[in-house]
Amino acid sequence: MYTDSHAHLTSNQVIAQVDQILERALLAKVTKVVNICTDEETLREGLKLKKLYPWIYNTAATTPHDVEDEGESFFPIVERAVADKALVALGETGLDYFYEHSNRALQQTFLLKYFDLGLKARLPVIFHCRDAFSDLFSLADAHYKGAPGLLHCFTGTVDEARGVLDRGWYLSLSGIITFKKSEALREVAKFVPLDRLLIETDTPYLAPQSHRGKLNEPSFILETAACLAAVLGKSVEEVAEMTSLNAEKFFSFSKLI
Ligand SMILES: [Zn+2]
Repeated sequence: MYTDSHAHLTSNQVIAQVDQILERALLAKVTKVVNICTDEETLREGLKLKKLYPWIYNTAATTPHDVEDEGESFFPIVERAVADKALVALGETGLDYFYEHSNRALQQTFLLKYFDLGLKARLPVIFHCRDAFSDLFSLADAHYKGAPGLLHCFTGTVDEARGVLDRGWYLSLSGIITFKKSEALREVAKFVPLDRLLIETDTPYLAPQSHRGKLNEPSFILETAACLAAVLGKSVEEVAEMTSLNAEKFFSFSKLI
């Protein structure tokens, strides 16, 4: 049994095929998928999807890329979903200084708003972070100390991984680990204890090596799990079981009605 801890199932690239995608996921023994909703429409569709597929779990937040355009308008909608107990986490929020599609100060403002909401609602927070670890860590130390976090699609260094682990957070690895050029990331994976790792597809992005260039989907997580198993010298079953257990600990799926 696999858990895909991060997929955008209701993004417009894949929503039309979502039934077939989820059928293939079940055939591949992917029995839980965390659907990341990033705006009003993907959240509305996510909530509908949950009714049809109870094994889908929704999260919501504006990505750091889009806070300039949509951060303000989406926030009260996320608050309502939180009040309705419709979410297992907040995210993905965070900081992206690599693309810097929204200005840095505003990215930080929304990160703090989501810290605050997460603490009030007792929901864990999923972070997107690119070229911004020192700011993420210092803001979290000041405003989110000791609270649960998951660094999604981790592609950082051993030092950055250590910073994540020191804060008690989890790391999630995507199909990037299967890419030929990802030797450094595979080395980082060896450094992280298996009880702190999750796996994800980030559907529809980042399809693993054998599907590169295609739309990604949850069933492709098996390739990432197999790669991680080979890197760690574990069986794929052990990787599937541990990463699913870690996801259960982080998201508390069973808490949701
Ligand atoms: Zn994502």
